Amino acid sequence: MPAPLIEPHATMSQAHILGFPRIGAGRELKTAVEAHWKGELPEAGLRAVGATLRQRHWDLQKAAGLDLVTVGDFAWYDHLHNATALFSAAPARFDLGRVDLAGYFAMARGTPQQPALAMKKWFDTNYHYLQPELNADSRFSLNRDWLLPEVREAQALGHKIKVVLPGPLSYLWLASADAAFDKLGLLSLLLNVYFVLLAELNAMGVACVQLDEPILALDLPQNWLDAYPVVYRELAATSPPLLLASYFGSVAEHAPLLRSLPMAGLHLDLVRAPDQLAAFLPDWPDDKILSLGIVDGRNLWRTDLVNALIALHPAHAQLGERLWISASCSLLHVPTDLALEHKLDPELRSWMAFATQKLDEIALLKRALNDGEAAVWKPLHAAGSAIQSRRRAPSTRRAEVRERCAAVGARDAERGAPFAQRIVQQRDALQLPLLPTTTIGSFPQTADIRAARAAFKQGKTSAADYESAMKASIRDAVSRQEALGLDVLVHGEAERNDMVEYFGEQLAGYAFTENGWVQSYGSRCVKPPVIYGDIARPKAMTVEWTRYAQSLTDKPMKGMLTGPITMLFWSFVRDDLPRSEVALQLALALRDEVGDLERAGIRVIQIDEPAIREGLPLKQAAWPDYLSWAVHAFRLSSSGVRDATQIHTHMCYSEFNDILPAIAAMDADVITIETSRSRMALLDAFAEFRYPNDIGPGLYDIHSPRVPALDEMRRLLQRALKVVPAERLWVNPDCGLKTRGWPETEAALSQMVATVRELRKELS
Ligand code: GLN
Ligand code: ZN
Repeated sequence: MPAPLIEPHATMSQAHILGFPRIGAGRELKTAVEAHWKGELPEAGLRAVGATLRQRHWDLQKAAGLDLVTVGDFAWYDHLHNATALFSAAPARFDLGRVDLAGYFAMARGTPQQPALAMKKWFDTNYHYLQPELNADSRFSLNRDWLLPEVREAQALGHKIKVVLPGPLSYLWLASADAAFDKLGLLSLLLNVYFVLLAELNAMGVACVQLDEPILALDLPQNWLDAYPVVYRELAATSPPLLLASYFGSVAEHAPLLRSLPMAGLHLDLVRAPDQLAAFLPDWPDDKILSLGIVDGRNLWRTDLVNALIALHPAHAQLGERLWISASCSLLHVPTDLALEHKLDPELRSWMAFATQKLDEIALLKRALNDGEAAVWKPLHAAGSAIQSRRRAPSTRRAEVRERCAAVGARDAERGAPFAQRIVQQRDALQLPLLPTTTIGSFPQTADIRAARAAFKQGKTSAADYESAMKASIRDAVSRQEALGLDVLVHGEAERNDMVEYFGEQLAGYAFTENGWVQSYGSRCVKPPVIYGDIARPKAMTVEWTRYAQSLTDKPMKGMLTGPITMLFWSFVRDDLPRSEVALQLALALRDEVGDLERAGIRVIQIDEPAIREGLPLKQAAWPDYLSWAVHAFRLSSSGVRDATQIHTHMCYSEFNDILPAIAAMDADVITIETSRSRMALLDAFAEFRYPNDIGPGLYDIHSPRVPALDEMRRLLQRALKVVPAERLWVNPDCGLKTRGWPETEAALSQMVATVRELRKELS
């Protein structure tokens, strides 16, 4: 029998976290890993950086007053990939033997012979994991070079340890396998490894093992749910006390199942699904822990501690020491330390808590429950004042924005005439050839362009010099496009560092951090802007550049905007308004920009929505509501124009099948999409659905410098013509070209134009 987790004399609630950001407050891990890849930092040096970060993060947890430090959340690239190494689950195609650090990176990044493991979005976050690759021949064994040394490292530092691992069912569910192969068939093989591992952790004196089972928040098939009792009964036999962690959504419908599992405790996400507590608390077994995630692990706002205490009190009264306090999910999804923000407005800063500050919040909640609120009166009061200041702050509310949102009617989200009539007017106005060619917006961001932007940002060049540098790049882009013979031109987006930040910087209601980095995948981090107040557009954002670009050519120049849903999902969003409301505000600001572009003589306007699919809720039952407000926001941003003005949208993923009705409901005149990965399946879906408007399926993948052969493009275009009538087909690359160089860009585009010209001849 494992040692009891609740000491007989303990009567106090405990505090812990599900995981801490691993990248380092100064992105030390990114720097070290990338240096190692370049051969500039030997493995020992890299390992030393990892050890320093782990130690620092454990120390932070202990210093804050958490009762356990979490071990196993660190990863050189991705935590699920660490499990793949630990379980020796490398796909045979890598021919690795025992996975070492080099093999780990080889799978993550690919080798000259083998493409990397697939990268997938981690549930509904912007973190991406490396997908384990399993098949009927997959076998597992414990590789003791992984995880166990980190446990010993934490023990040597004197910490009381909780080890975190992906739960076996979530690990299997998230793996890729042939459709015909039932991954559950591997369960007992996988469990053998868990069995050995958990027994070893127990022997090492680990206090608790947290098994993450986030798939419980998805729509799970019954046979997967049925596996839970079997798995957990088996594992509990040799393991340290097990904490099963759910997050990202409600698991209330599984309450009877989860209550009956032989584990020490269960973690619930009370930020995403506060109501689920009512499904668990009343008959929670009196030998089990309930860990309540009340501090938001997905957003950077300070917790309303008074409200949190109100929510926790009944649980504390009932559970006492069996109540654990935590963040909703791993803190991986928030930036590391607010202390590094020196330029934020002090009031706004006082409303925020990054991962480090969230540790204090969790510890404070625990102390308030255990010792009484009087014992922590001061910090509690300070937190309360910050919440009050945020609630009352005039900077977060704009009466005119609220009024305008309230006045929006259904008619505002509708174009004047249906597509069939609009397109006739648009053809008339634009006079484009059959199979019109265009690009998605950005052109190569050369060193010169980036240097000009950086110099301007740092105040090293005058506005006039900056403007002439940008205008020069626009002239260059326009003349190259004319020489290539493209039909609808773009200005090239040289002035944009990032498609969300560029607009956020010009909108009221947005703020920017200096160091608010969050890991996106591997060594890549993003610094999402922060929506803290009502969104307004003080002045036009893109009109001058676009007008200038149009003045250089007789061909139509596309105005280029980022859509409301993408602005929303790639930002940290205020949590005091429903997201649908924030989307509405963004949509109205963009609608004004669209109107200004039209008045400036721009006849084609593209509103990019690459993130619309990312916003899909985890459970399908919630899709219709989301899709309805998302589509409404897009339509609101795009419907204020004349029928003859052509609205484009662009999306860069290839899984459309399940949301095609919503995409059609967006009613863009033209949609350009990424198709290089699953071309036929995708276009078939559009055809089968009878997608009514114009489509531009990407003709080549922009993620690689490779220039596709002429007949390859021709074959793809012919295939597209089989399912989309020529009058409704556009020709374009998969996505924007900002990461490419000019030589490959011009080579690929000139082939694209040549292919189209040949086909036009044959068709006429
Ligand atoms: N217009 C943007 C560009 O070309 C679109 C980028 C995207 O879809 N992610 O860069
Ligand atoms: Zn794209």
